This record gives sequence, C-alpha cells and structure tokens, in this order.
Amino acid sequence: MRTVAVTKIGSLRDPDEATRGRIGLVDFPEQPLGPEDVRIRVAYAAICGSDPHLAEGFFGTDVPIGLGHEISGVVEALGERATRNGLRVGDRVAGNFLRFCGTCRACQEGAQQFCEHIQEYNRPGMAETITWHESQVYRLPDDVSLLKGCLLEPTSVAVRIVDKARIRVGDRVAICGGGPIGQLALQVVRRHGATSLTLIEPIAGRRDMALRHGAEFVIDPTAEDQGQRAAEITAGRGYDVVIDASGSPRAVRGLLDLAAKGGTVVYGAMYPEDYEMPLNLSDYLYLKELTLTGVFVSPYAFPRALQLLPHLDVDELTAAVFDLEDAPAAFDAHVSGRHPKVVIRCNPVPDERRERLS
Ligand SMILES: [Zn+2]
Ligand SMILES: [Zn+2]
Repeated sequence: MRTVAVTKIGSLRDPDEATRGRIGLVDFPEQPLGPEDVRIRVAYAAICGSDPHLAEGFFGTDVPIGLGHEISGVVEALGERATRNGLRVGDRVAGNFLRFCGTCRACQEGAQQFCEHIQEYNRPGMAETITWHESQVYRLPDDVSLLKGCLLEPTSVAVRIVDKARIRVGDRVAICGGGPIGQLALQVVRRHGATSLTLIEPIAGRRDMALRHGAEFVIDPTAEDQGQRAAEITAGRGYDVVIDASGSPRAVRGLLDLAAKGGTVVYGAMYPEDYEMPLNLSDYLYLKELTLTGVFVSPYAFPRALQLLPHLDVDELTAAVFDLEDAPAAFDAHVSGRHPKVVIRCNPVPDERRERLS
C-alpha cells in the first residue's frame, strides 16, 4: 500500500540538498481489519503545518515515518462488529487520526488528549487506504464534498482552540497567523460572536483571504506597529482573546501585550521544542491576570466540527491538489508558502455529482 513518508530526517527548508529532509512514497503493508475496524479508501489527505516538524524528527527519527492525519475517504470494508454508528460500505467519511483507548485514567477522567495509549495507534493517512477503529470515523454530511471533508481534522483543532479561549459573545479577538488553522479559527470565532476581529499576518494574500471571510481588521506585523494598531482597534483596551496560530517564536513574542486585562491567550500551534518564551510574571499574570493556555489535540471537538463544516467557506484551502505520485512536489509547494494549504489526492475520486448521488 503506497504511503507518503519521511524517508530522510532533516528540515524540508534546508537549502543544502545533502542535509535536507526528504519525502517519498513507501510501500507499507495494509493494516489488518479488526472486528471493530473500518477500512477507508482515502480520497484526500491534506498537508499539515506539523508535517515538516515530523520530517525534522520531532516525534522520532526512525525512517520511514508515514504521514497524513487530515483525511477523507470512502468506507471500503467493515469489521463484523463495526456497526454501532451505522456505518456502511460506500459511506463518505473523515475522522480523528487518534484512537483514544477509553480505558486509561486520562480517558476515564474526560481528558482523552492525554490518553496513555495515544501513540500506539497513529496510522499514516496519506496512503491508498487507512484502517481506523469505528470510534474514529465520522460520516460526512451530504452537502460536504470529500475534498472539503479532509478539513474536518483541522476544523476540530479550530473548535478546540475556541473552547480553550472560552470566548463570550462580543469579545474582541485577535488571531496571529493566517495559515489554515488561523483561517479556520477566524471563521469559527466569527460565528461565535467575536468583535474587532483582527488577523495578524505578514503575507498579503493570507490577510486578503481573512478579509474575505470575516476579519474586520488585518495587521502586517512586518510593516506596522502591531501594538499601536491593536490599541487603535480596541480603543486602548486590548483584545479579550488572543489566539496564536503561527507557531513562530518571532510572532508570539509581542502577543501578551495585545491582550486586555483579564484576557486569555491561546497558543494554538506547535512550537520548536527548544523555544522558551520570556514571561514577566508581574506584568502579565499578577497585574494583568492573563490566562495562558494551549492546544495539543482535539478530542470531543469532532462532532461540532462536523456540524460547522457545511457553514465554513474553505474553497481557498483546498484549491491546490496534487496526485499521490507527486507527493514530493506537493511538499515543495507546501514549504514554498505559495498556497494557503496543499492537498494530496490519494486515489481517483469520482466527480462530485456522482459522489452526491451515492
Ligand atoms: Zn494537522
Ligand atoms: Zn486512554
């Protein structure tokens, strides 16, 4: 079974070919279909901002490392007991790449993101097929295409970010980073009643995209004084909620100054493992009473992400589609930043009309 994988550890941005990380197609055995499992013929798998971190060895350095956790596809086979959610062969689905065991202490306490067995079951989805436990699989609504469906997982991350932000209707919100998670979070917080909604992003195309989808203000942090602009936008009070979706140490540095007294700052990205952010406890936690939090993964957010997906306008995130054979070129395109997101078509997909009739 052909699978996209990291075949050499290293930064995908390294200008030196000799040390640069490499992406290739590897033949992995198909996973066995257990009695409660669902085999999915993968239609689309989107490249995530975290995938280049995997190429750098963030979660281990034994190559090949199979990639892909933002997928959609069609149910190809069901284990004999995979019937509790009424799934049928031919159903169009997406899902959660993580399987929570349901039995460990963390799962019992309602904190599945800390499931002690989370790493045992991370199967690569940028592949011809993937086999998941039925608890991971969600049937797509009829009005969500397979192409849009591969964004269910990043949408669940946006939902979890908003959960952690504990936004109230009318809160002033700023989002730093106009990549896919920032854009999805923008649309989700807008539906949640955010005001003074601002995207901070150096790439003009991404700022324009945000303005098309509900941002009231954009700030270019490389050309403008973001603190001054934030003060203008919020009448000197700052934002009740600041969300980082950039993962960039340079970008997160000034975010605490943008938050209002009593505000919440959500670090909703993945950060370099050796990065330590300076934090003045007196200014930010004592005098300003800020709440700082983050997001690792997104349990409990998938059903609501599925409800939201038909209402989100994500066509610009699924415009760049590469075939499975062209996965290395797809990653080059991702790293170049030319597209807001890059999607890999893992199998021939029936056209959307046929897809809807089935
Ligand atoms: Zn992702
Ligand atoms: Zn568990």
